[in-house]
Amino acid sequence: MSKVPALELIDIHKTFGNVEVLKGISLKAYDGDVISILGSSGSGKSTFLRCINMLENPTKGEIIFNGESLNLVPSGSDLVSGNMKQLTKMRQQIGFVFQSFNLWPHMTILQNVMEGPAHVLKRPKHEVMAYAEHLLDKVGIADKKHMYPNQLSGGQQQRVAIARTLAMDPQVILFDEPTSALDPELVGEVLGVMRNLADEGRTMLIVTHEMNFAREVSSDVVFLHQGVVEEQGAPSKVFGSPESERCKAFLSSVF
Ligand code: ADP
Ligand code: MG
Repeated sequence: MSKVPALELIDIHKTFGNVEVLKGISLKAYDGDVISILGSSGSGKSTFLRCINMLENPTKGEIIFNGESLNLVPSGSDLVSGNMKQLTKMRQQIGFVFQSFNLWPHMTILQNVMEGPAHVLKRPKHEVMAYAEHLLDKVGIADKKHMYPNQLSGGQQQRVAIARTLAMDPQVILFDEPTSALDPELVGEVLGVMRNLADEGRTMLIVTHEMNFAREVSSDVVFLHQGVVEEQGAPSKVFGSPESERCKAFLSSVF
């Protein structure tokens, strides 16, 4: 039996106005894959990640989740969901961790983590609370559960954001530069949590500029340049002996 990818993107294009930002990106992620997406600023990394769960509407392409193709229909020059129920279900199973944490400021840390499973998944509150506490413990924030986001450091807020994402039991987690907004001394604690998730076999797509982390944790690395996959492969290949001159130049600029 051939394995079905957890997530498959086929020929994703995105045009803003008359600028084609994604020029046909295809990618497969199998369960347990950790795929790092690299590239210089403006290469289309965020746009690609956002197209996966339709935070951005692709202009063209196909999105397949566990073998089920998303129903996409033309609207203007873009494709939009033709089946909101299907998209909502997919979004619940694909977590998204943003650069800017995006915690709810008026809720405590514990409430932030409980919100999704309690109000979206409608799980029993006592179960949700126990699970949220477990997840906060896992990311090392259990003692801050009654505090509010603005009372925490950026690194702590991002760890809460990861716990909040985990609370939905996502099959795949997308990370868009999760450590880029952090002071340098706080980056390690977030990467540590992400490394544990990778070790647990979580399926993750990670846009990052943390090259050592990407090299150590990834099963595959994708290098984007101007909306095209310019280089792709095992970290040993992409970091050790890249074929593309652009990839070589990028790597030598960041190491
Ligand atoms: P990256 O994440 O790799 O830095 P982005 O995906 O954010 O790159 O952006 C790729 C290109 O698309 C950039 O040139 C950016 O200016 C452009 N872009 C991104 N979002 C929009 C938008 N909403 N409207 C117009 N242009 C956009
Ligand atoms: Mg970006």
